[in-house]
Amino acid sequence: MAWLPAAVNAFTCRFDPALLAPLQQAWAGLAPLLSGQPELLAGGFYRNQPLNADFQLVSYDTDPLFWISPRHAQPFALFEAFGDGLQGAGLQPQLRQLLDCRKKVALYGGFFVAGDRLEEAIWHHDYRPGAQGYTLITPLTKLAPDHGGLCYQTPGGQTLRYAYTLGEAIVLGADFLHSTEPYGPSAELRVLLSLTLGSDKMKHWPLLKPNIAEQASFFRLPCGHVAGQCRCETRRWPF
Ligand SMILES: [Zn+2]
Repeated sequence: MAWLPAAVNAFTCRFDPALLAPLQQAWAGLAPLLSGQPELLAGGFYRNQPLNADFQLVSYDTDPLFWISPRHAQPFALFEAFGDGLQGAGLQPQLRQLLDCRKKVALYGGFFVAGDRLEEAIWHHDYRPGAQGYTLITPLTKLAPDHGGLCYQTPGGQTLRYAYTLGEAIVLGADFLHSTEPYGPSAELRVLLSLTLGSDKMKHWPLLKPNIAEQASFFRLPCGHVAGQCRCETRRWPF
């Protein structure tokens, strides 16, 4: 675990890349569905559509960056197992210190983030200021030399670059201003793995919900229930 140089609220942690194997295997079945659609990869349209029976594809606005998330519990379990595997990498204790949790760090969603280009930087924050959430991003496989890294801004307004490395995850929270580094078109898809994690207290959900709910149709709330199968939001939550 190391804080990212001069960054606001972001750190990195290293883990055994063998943990990625089940997700790499799942991706092998999805990759041809994307590679076979050059018009999709070119971007220019907002997308929110099933990729197959197990995964949903959502674009980042009209940009050619695709968030591919599980549509039901079975593929979701692959991401959960990966998150559990990172416990050995010291991720949970670190997040536990940074977050206001009742019992444990909650997993909200899991994604493959895929694309083969980005023409212009898209500067953004992943969460509203003060939100009790973090985004973990790590390469699913070794990136190609022409793939973009991550650019971020320091409090002094300087732009720095983080290079994605296999077996290392970057974990970023609210107030971390960043963008994918523009690159490509590349001959190879750039595939990252992402988890959204955060507090297990429902009182923090209203600030997290706008960001978590726009990326995926199947996700979990801080209480651990799946979206659409949870009545905690309408109940008077005691903590
Ligand atoms: Zn609930």
